[in-house]
Amino acid sequence: MEKINERRLLFSLTFDELVKFLDSHGAKKFVAKQIFEWIYHKFVFDHTQWTNVSDKVKGLLSENFDLTIPKVVWDGLSEDGTRKFLIGFRDGRTVEAVMIPARNNRKTLCLSSQVGCAIGCTFCHTGTMGLTRHLEAGEIVGQFLSVTKFLKDKVGPEERLSNIVYMGQGEPLHNFDETKKSAIIFTDEKALGLSQRRVTLSTSGLVPQIKKLEDFPPINIAISLHAAHNEIRTELMPINKAYDLDRLLSAIKEIPLKAHRYITYEYLLIDKYNDRKEDVEALSKLLPKKVSKINLIPFNEYPESSFKRPSVSRINWFRYELEKNGYTCTVRTTKGSDILAACGQLKSEMEKKINLWEIGQ
Ligand code: SAH
Ligand code: SF4
Repeated sequence: MEKINERRLLFSLTFDELVKFLDSHGAKKFVAKQIFEWIYHKFVFDHTQWTNVSDKVKGLLSENFDLTIPKVVWDGLSEDGTRKFLIGFRDGRTVEAVMIPARNNRKTLCLSSQVGCAIGCTFCHTGTMGLTRHLEAGEIVGQFLSVTKFLKDKVGPEERLSNIVYMGQGEPLHNFDETKKSAIIFTDEKALGLSQRRVTLSTSGLVPQIKKLEDFPPINIAISLHAAHNEIRTELMPINKAYDLDRLLSAIKEIPLKAHRYITYEYLLIDKYNDRKEDVEALSKLLPKKVSKINLIPFNEYPESSFKRPSVSRINWFRYELEKNGYTCTVRTTKGSDILAACGQLKSEMEKKINLWEIGQ
């Protein structure tokens, strides 16, 4: 796997890490607070504009860290207001981030945790790419910063992202430490300060990492279940061979739940495949009703895939049956499919753009 052969990004540092770094160079803790305010509260990323930070500290930072945020290499606006961004990093690699508008001026950013993904789910466009590399925490946070800057510059100064879902390219728990750092930076009040309930991490079910989730800030967890029978799940998600439903469900039981919390189970609905009566029955045996929410995701088709999306009436029937059995159940509306920004459709298809960016476009 490729490594970025450069300094670590400043945006990879949690507040405590920055304090430690400054302390080891004789600077005071309040300087870390000022730096975090410039970056995460005022969204001023150019350190030459940090008027209350001394030149000495600025020099120290630029000697030791890379202070640049990633670039928006391309953006596309869907008819429904969804915006897809191709975000370029310093080694020329790109990932997609998708901004999805919702009611009450909420804006969710769906961000990537890796370039590509190693898990290889058979229904997923990203899964066909394989893994190129992990993202550094500052590249995950950087997607948020770059999109925020784009929105403020191009749409209006009041623009803000309110929610985050780790549902773009990559398996966030495969990149555990960097993803964890990014979640700390997203939720820490001294940094971006998003409510923990507004941050959701989706995982394909890496059991050993699920067991370590108590190290994370208590954000929402969504599990990509997609099947209630091991045979079907293994066909869809090769990871089920290593961590089958039994092992997955018992690991999930160990996630410490706070009073208001539950686990979301994402269930992809594929026509005539996992949308049958026996699937409803198996799901209803498998999932505890009180602490589970089921989010049905009608399959998003893409050219190379042979799977089909069920009809609207079939989707509604499946939902109705689960609700009858006592589950809280939602159907994910498809956003941005006209610009291939919907779930599972994210794949870097714009290598040409990368080259343009590399030559400094
Ligand atoms: N790797 C993580 C997070 C990224 S994928 C995971 O798998 O959970 C985010 C969600 O999009 C997952 O639930 C995934 O199963 C779903 N998804 C992938 N391909 C899809 C497709 N073609 N149609 C609909 N949803 C898809
Ligand atoms: Fe990776 Fe998630 Fe796609 Fe599976 S669904 S290949 S885990 S990104």
